[in-house]
Amino acid sequence: MGKPIVVFGSFVVDLTSRSKGLPLPGQTLLGSSFKLGAGGKGSNQAVAAHRAGANVTLVTKIGSDVFGQVAMDFYRAEGMNTDYILRDSERETGVALIMVDEQSAQNEIVVVSGACAHITPEDVERCRPLIEGASILLLQHEINFDAQYRVIDIARAAGVKIVLNPAPAAEIPAEVLSKIDIVTPNETEAQALTGVEVGNLEDAKRAAKVFLDRGVKNVVITMGALGSFATDGVRSELLPRLNVNAIDTTGAGDAFNGGFVMALSEGRDLFQALRYGNATGALSVTKLGTAPSMPSRAEIDRMVRENYGL
Ligand code: ADP
Repeated sequence: MGKPIVVFGSFVVDLTSRSKGLPLPGQTLLGSSFKLGAGGKGSNQAVAAHRAGANVTLVTKIGSDVFGQVAMDFYRAEGMNTDYILRDSERETGVALIMVDEQSAQNEIVVVSGACAHITPEDVERCRPLIEGASILLLQHEINFDAQYRVIDIARAAGVKIVLNPAPAAEIPAEVLSKIDIVTPNETEAQALTGVEVGNLEDAKRAAKVFLDRGVKNVVITMGALGSFATDGVRSELLPRLNVNAIDTTGAGDAFNGGFVMALSEGRDLFQALRYGNATGALSVTKLGTAPSMPSRAEIDRMVRENYGL
């Protein structure tokens, strides 16, 4: 196997209840169902890339608690590398408490990042050889920023391609942004980071220009049901969404990023990788859930062959 993709990001356990309505302060509701599953953008994107057939190593941090065991069991069942799942002896594993109103489909979410927001300089040093030997480093915004910036500097010095999915949206210092090879916000994050409302190709070009002017080399904007956009500063393309039976769009962005970096790691160019991302995102919305909805390599290959002739 060639050099791995390294995803350096979050793991949280998603604890999801469904109920009729959502509780008011002080109120207790009886729910109708509950689900526990592996989540966190770092984890989800690593799973997506792994199922898409990439050689991927996830670096994240969990507690020495029962939810940490959930993570280990999950990665072993997926057949993923667990060598860089760091352990925090004091802090809890991260959790997302998700309450879904089954009538309106609205939700209320509290995320407690726990261990994965406390990655120490020593943790990062332990991962230095892994990062330096990577083909691509994929990051999101769910770990502590000081660790994120250290990891970016190590990757940059080693000439590793850096892909940043800036989710959830948070301000990125200009000095950090100029080190990023490809930034991959969704339209909401693109608006938060550039001030440009993104609803069509021209908007996407304008938002992308803000990133390009700040020193990012390539910009991808996922635009939900509109599809996905990419530019390298010369060529720009808005690829329409693929026509699928969409039943649950949670995790579409994570799927996109996983499929996208898989294709890049196999030597595809930005616009071919955009097609793999678009196909992976589309396939994920045809199934319920986040990590469980990530498609296999065979499904992605079929989608890409039938729609793009790749
Ligand atoms: P996020 O989950 O971050 O909000 P998006 O909603 O932008 O991300 O979706 C990511 C990608 O998933 C899109 O760019 C597109 O390729 C695909 N996608 C999302 N929704 C649909 C849909 N309804 N039909 C087909 N593809 C979709």
